Amino acid sequence: MKVCKFGGTSVASAEQIRKVVDIVTADPQRRIVVVSAPGKRFSDDIKVTDLLIRLAEAALQGEETESHLKRVVDRFRDIAEDLGLSNDVSNEIEKDLRSRLTCDKTDSLLYMDTMKAAGEDNNAKMIAAYFNLIGVEAKYVSPKEGGLLVNNRPQAVRALPEGDEQLAKLRDESALIVFPGFFGYTKDGTLRTFNRGGSDITGSIVAAAVEADLYENFTDVDSVFAANPTVIENPVPIKTMTYREMRELAYAGFSVFHDEALIPAFRKSIPVSIKNTNNPDAPGTSIVKERDYHEQQVIGIAADSGFTAIYVDKYLMNTEIGFGRRLLQIFEEEDISYEHTPSGIDNLSIIIRTCYLPLDKEQRIVERIHRELDPDAVIVEHDYSMIVLVGEGMQYTTGLAARAASAIASTGANIEMINQGSSEVSLVFGVKVPDEDKILRALYAEFFQKTSVHS
Ligand code: ASP
Repeated sequence: MKVCKFGGTSVASAEQIRKVVDIVTADPQRRIVVVSAPGKRFSDDIKVTDLLIRLAEAALQGEETESHLKRVVDRFRDIAEDLGLSNDVSNEIEKDLRSRLTCDKTDSLLYMDTMKAAGEDNNAKMIAAYFNLIGVEAKYVSPKEGGLLVNNRPQAVRALPEGDEQLAKLRDESALIVFPGFFGYTKDGTLRTFNRGGSDITGSIVAAAVEADLYENFTDVDSVFAANPTVIENPVPIKTMTYREMRELAYAGFSVFHDEALIPAFRKSIPVSIKNTNNPDAPGTSIVKERDYHEQQVIGIAADSGFTAIYVDKYLMNTEIGFGRRLLQIFEEEDISYEHTPSGIDNLSIIIRTCYLPLDKEQRIVERIHRELDPDAVIVEHDYSMIVLVGEGMQYTTGLAARAASAIASTGANIEMINQGSSEVSLVFGVKVPDEDKILRALYAEFFQKTSVHS
């Protein structure tokens, strides 16, 4: 059986939902459908999730909510009408939204999660109703009933394996299952949403729990590309890559697939296929456990900005037992998670995503490092970009780092940091944000446009 997930643009309008229905009904193995909330219909459009966030913010601030509510309801009503569904469907959606609006606001994060989840939840109900209308027996299953259990860490929500047994029963349902993405329930029944784009995660959890033969992730591009198409003209499509490669690329900005979504599929070795709802016959990108890397050692190059480096220098750091632990403990106590820790004999840098490091915490961390570790210098540098060269073949090929470094040197940009993870699937270059695009172009030319004597 196959689990298919349809992203926001795939369910943004009645026309798109009809494509979804065609895709699902074309293959009887497609038994479980996970849906996002209606996304953008055109580039300036606003996703339903964002409309819901505005609505929740207005409610939390005690502002007028009716106009915000109307925008959400109208989006659903337009789709329902175009699909030929009865008014009851959109009236139910409006009722649901009004009742969520009156929920307890004491815990604003919880309130926000309840409001955000309304996009996928109501969309799943509406799409199930449409399948039934056209004579395909379908059943909406809520994550509570289905068993999608999550932990209770707001903004760091993860699925709990305890839910898998219940979820696995979805396999035995005779009706087509329509399951809302993006949220689950804690053991005590509290609704929690995953991070943005989290319907990919739901799809992967469900696919793993039912031990699907394939997890199909339908989006709006024909495949994953080797580099960002807004910077590189016509980058090569990636036909096959490994879970680890996708994870590395997704981490550094490949938004086609959520980086947290791979883990469940990976653990159960469920192959993942990225497909285009608007062009379902295109082969797409397959994500599998292993690939033949001999032809293409480097599979893609990603770049992501928004990093801060905290550089700590202390003479004889290498001989000071416990220095690294005490330094990292400060970050742990301040509830900051770090990304990389490149080090030298007398220095260590902690690289953090700037969005997770509010200024007050940054100042407190720097003060604590001075007070508790007595360093010679602590320097904070913002505006870092991470350029990540990804490929399973890197660990078996000599000279790739040298080629990458000389390609970067040819742009005149300075490399601020180099980090090669022990797995050798990726090579990370810390650079200054203004240099990002030119470096990406130089690396792409080196690894994808040259007939190389090295490969
Ligand atoms: N609707 C949610 C978002 O916009 C989740 C998703 O689409 O995957 O982030």
